[in-house]
Order: sequence, then structure tokens, then C-alpha cells
Amino acid sequence: MGGRESTMVLLDSEGRRCDGRRVDEPRRIMIKAGGLKNADGSAYIEFGDNKIIAGVFGPREVHPKHLSDTDTGILRVRYHMAPFSVGERKNPAPSRREIEISKVIKEALEPAVMLEQFPRTVVDVFLEVIQADGGTRCAALSAASVALADAGIPMRDMVAACAAGKVADTIILDVNNEEDQAGQADMPIGYMPGLEKITLLQLDGVLTPDEYKRCVRVGIDGCKIVYDLQKKALAEKYFGGQQ
Ligand code: UDP
Repeated sequence: MGGRESTMVLLDSEGRRCDGRRVDEPRRIMIKAGGLKNADGSAYIEFGDNKIIAGVFGPREVHPKHLSDTDTGILRVRYHMAPFSVGERKNPAPSRREIEISKVIKEALEPAVMLEQFPRTVVDVFLEVIQADGGTRCAALSAASVALADAGIPMRDMVAACAAGKVADTIILDVNNEEDQAGQADMPIGYMPGLEKITLLQLDGVLTPDEYKRCVRVGIDGCKIVYDLQKKALAEKYFGGQQ
């Protein structure tokens, strides 16, 4: 990003992106609720070539005990990339990047989860990236919401996430790995569509104030697409597809 412009054609003369998508077209998204027998709630997401499993455990007793809060439950999130999830083997030890992503996902989920109903407990969210291709934090956050709902944790809204960005001076929806590496900006957004509230907004790259506003609008449109698929995934598991 920024200064990493490559010679790759990110947008051709017909307005097609490097993977053939239009500027406002997300990658193929598939969300499934459930799947992990030993978790209280779980979900699986494919977001383009990203493949991520989310497992939720709790509310349960906090260990170590001194971390518990008598007024509310707490949320813990661990985002982790499998060593085989990327082209060049990733060290399995938690990297600074994974610690940061775990923190931003936790903070993006907290406004949605009604933890005050479960004082002294913890809800653990494990996010395992088994294949990564740009945009894993958004895909993982979207899967985490479905897994929390699948665990029966009361929520004010779902958090749906999608990135917008800028390549070849054009605002695009859902940034893939090549566009992330060689483009001009990447803006992951987490959004509660029912409450119309943004819970995650990061920006890597440089945008003018006008481009910034357009990116937020485009990103929110992407979140709404994800939101429909999250609801569909839960409806499929619990109501045989009826929403
Ligand atoms: N990536 C990688 N090796 C790493 C970390 C990331 O190949 O150790 C790739 C991976 O495809 C990831 C992308 O770089 O999705 C972009 O990473 P970024 O930190 O921007 O987070 P993301 O876009 O996945 O939320």
C-alpha cells in the first residue's frame, strides 16, 4: 500500500479488476452456521479464497479468576493464521499482526454482544484462518458474529464486515490480496446494519476527504451484502432456510 504501486494491471480499459470483478462487485461469499461439535457456537466462511472457521465457547467461568468482572461478562478473541494458510509458511507463534487483529475484532464485536447479562463470565471466540487471500479480518469478524449468534449469545445486532479501497485512482469494493499489495488504499469496515453503527474502521493508504466518504459508503454497501448472507446462514440452520 502507498508506495508499493506495481506494474500489475489492477483495472483494465473495460473497468474490470485483476480477478475479473467490476469495481462494485464483492468476491463469492459463502457462510455456514455451525459445524464444530465441541463448540457452543460456530461458523465457517469462504470469502473469495479466504477460508476461516470460528468457534465460540461460553459464557463460562473465567480463568485466571482475577480477570473476571463482577459487573459484566468479558469477551476474548484469538485470531490465528494456520502455517499453511499463506504461500510462504507462517510461523505458528502469534505475530504482532495477529495480536492487533484479535484486538480490533474484539472491539468490533463488543458493542453487539450483551455481555452485561453474564457477569463474571467469559465468552471466548477462536478464529482460525485456514486459507488467506486478503481481507481475513473482515471475513473473520463476519464469521465470529454468526458463531456468537449460533452459541445463543444475546446480541443487539450482527456485525458484518467488508473492505473498500482504492486501486488505479478508483474506489472499489472488497479488496483482494493483489489489490491490497499493489493498490492505493484498503479500508476494512465492520458495521451493525440494524443499528447503522460502524464498529471497525481502519485505513491503510492515503485518500482525499471525498474518497474517504465514498469508501465508507461503498464498504457499508458490502457489509449489507454480508449481513444478508449471515442471516441466511442462521436461517438455514435453525429454520430450514425460512427467514
Ligand atoms: N499475509 C501473508 N502472510 C502473513 C500475513 C498476511 O501472506 O504473514 C497475506 C494474507 O493473504 C492476508 C493479506 O496478506 O490476507 C493481507 O493482510 P492484512 O494484514 O492486510 O490483513 P487482512 O487483509 O487479511 O485483514
